[in-house]
Amino acid sequence: MRTDDDNWDITTSVGQTALFVAASRALEARKPDPLAVDEYAEVFCRAAGGDWTVAVEGSDPEHPLQTEFGEHFVNFQGARTKYFDEYFRRAIDAGVKQVVLLAAGLDSRAYRLPWADGTVVYELDQPRVLAFKRDTMDELGVSPTAERREIAIDLREDWPQALRSNGFDPARPSAWIAEGLLIYLPAAAQERLFAGIDALAAPGSFVGVEEAVPMPADAFDAKRAEAHASGDENAFFNLVYNQQHAPANQWFGARGWNAVATPLHEYLTRVGRPVPGQDSEAGLMTGTITLVAATKR
Ligand code: SAM
Repeated sequence: MRTDDDNWDITTSVGQTALFVAASRALEARKPDPLAVDEYAEVFCRAAGGDWTVAVEGSDPEHPLQTEFGEHFVNFQGARTKYFDEYFRRAIDAGVKQVVLLAAGLDSRAYRLPWADGTVVYELDQPRVLAFKRDTMDELGVSPTAERREIAIDLREDWPQALRSNGFDPARPSAWIAEGLLIYLPAAAQERLFAGIDALAAPGSFVGVEEAVPMPADAFDAKRAEAHASGDENAFFNLVYNQQHAPANQWFGARGWNAVATPLHEYLTRVGRPVPGQDSEAGLMTGTITLVAATKR
């Protein structure tokens, strides 16, 4: 169960969710018609080893990513990666040169997107998560395609101050992402996160957010009890808060941003991937998700 000051490495608690989405991106990249190719996702999973290697090799038919749920989850991650890759390409085209990956996890965009010269990518996450990523990339001998600055911090702490101390300039436009993050934060921390972004974002800035509407409390409590009884501390429902401070398009829309919200199901259809049945295990999750992109006027 979560506590206010919990911490983790890449294979425990919220840390291993970064490997789970990386494994999904690796499986998407192996398809003949991938929505997005993250060539480093598989590398991270192999570096973690054990079940994570099995996950990307697809060699265990019982693995959660090989089930019907898993098939939809991989499509979801492929779509999400494509959506935010294109979002960042728009920011690059607009000349933005400060990029902030909130909860960077194993997001490899600092190593694979065509950043303009002089771009700085700030990666914020817990210290041991960032260390795993750095060690893996160093071992592989891969260099980032921008200047990459790690900020090892918990996002429930004073991360705006840490960002400024590392050279972030609030007077220049920036592009932000909160992908696969909000569900792991209580509503009050989500509010501070949005407020922190807004306070540091100059006109012309971009923000990209993945968000989920909370499940009904009784359904969530049942899932949480199931997760608890399973004895698996890393079970998804032991890690999430099931809270939402405010829909991002409304919150940013009310503060001088032009925001567009795209329900994940709409986006899946747009990119030619099936939408899971609404009462299926996958559909109950993906149906709650919205992808949001906004620019500050
Ligand atoms: N954004 C990455 C992506 O989409 O591949 C990683 C997503 S992963 C599902 C969740 C990430 O959020 C993990 O890397 C975890 O360490 C990070 N995270 C969650 N809560 C955090 C917090 N309070 N402070 C710092 N990082 C946090």
